[in-house]
Amino acid sequence: MRKKVVAGNWKCNTNLQEGVELAKAVNEAVAKDGAKDVVVVLGTPFTHITSVVDAVDTNRIGVASQNCAAEAKGAYTGEVSAAMVKSTGAEYVILGHSERREYYGETSEILNKKVALTLENGLTPIYCCGEALDIREAGTQNDFVKTQLEETVFNLSAEDFSKIIIAYEPIWAIGTGVTASSEQAQEMLAFIRGLIADKFGAAVAEETSILYGGSCNPKNANELFANPDIDGGLIGGASLKAEDFLAIINAY
Ligand code: PEP
Repeated sequence: MRKKVVAGNWKCNTNLQEGVELAKAVNEAVAKDGAKDVVVVLGTPFTHITSVVDAVDTNRIGVASQNCAAEAKGAYTGEVSAAMVKSTGAEYVILGHSERREYYGETSEILNKKVALTLENGLTPIYCCGEALDIREAGTQNDFVKTQLEETVFNLSAEDFSKIIIAYEPIWAIGTGVTASSEQAQEMLAFIRGLIADKFGAAVAEETSILYGGSCNPKNANELFANPDIDGGLIGGASLKAEDFLAIINAY
């Protein structure tokens, strides 16, 4: 059965001490009463990863970086490679987030390299896709997301594709307080699952965890997660408060 996943994306928030405190608070609550069949992931800044790995029970909580370099190693000042991320004990890498595509010019070509390096290093990519508001208003969101997938993760073998997690995040819902309706989210995730079935077969599609992201919070998580194709969430703002993040985990 495919996994339910609730992954936090802390973005460029918290200093090291605040991050460790947040991780400890999530860890404590998950140990006490967190939904047992949900994979919990904390997507921290690079600087925090090792300390967060040390602060949590990694049998219960996975740690993610929010990016990795497009090259394996070498003269790329300021970059952090997938192998470096792996060496910290992290297990996941968030890739293709719309903020990275928009502010840092991440193209499909760059993302293909990052996905490949992430997989080569035994890490799980949480691969983001999703359309901007003008595309949604024009009604072409399905074509847009299909192209994003076809240019990147649909180039993988079925074996490699089956190792990744997909996160659909409509840009108009990220950090805006405007959540996609439960119907809009379910419709898109079912569409994505259908594309996966066409490309890799029904068995792979059935096993792929597909998450929704975009202003998911303790109030709307329950309704979103009740949909058959929504396998969890990628959570930005609400992952910065242990109480809210826990409430989302326990929405299952
Ligand atoms: C995100 O950036 O991945 C995200 C979903 O953010 P938020 O929950 O704040 O909309």
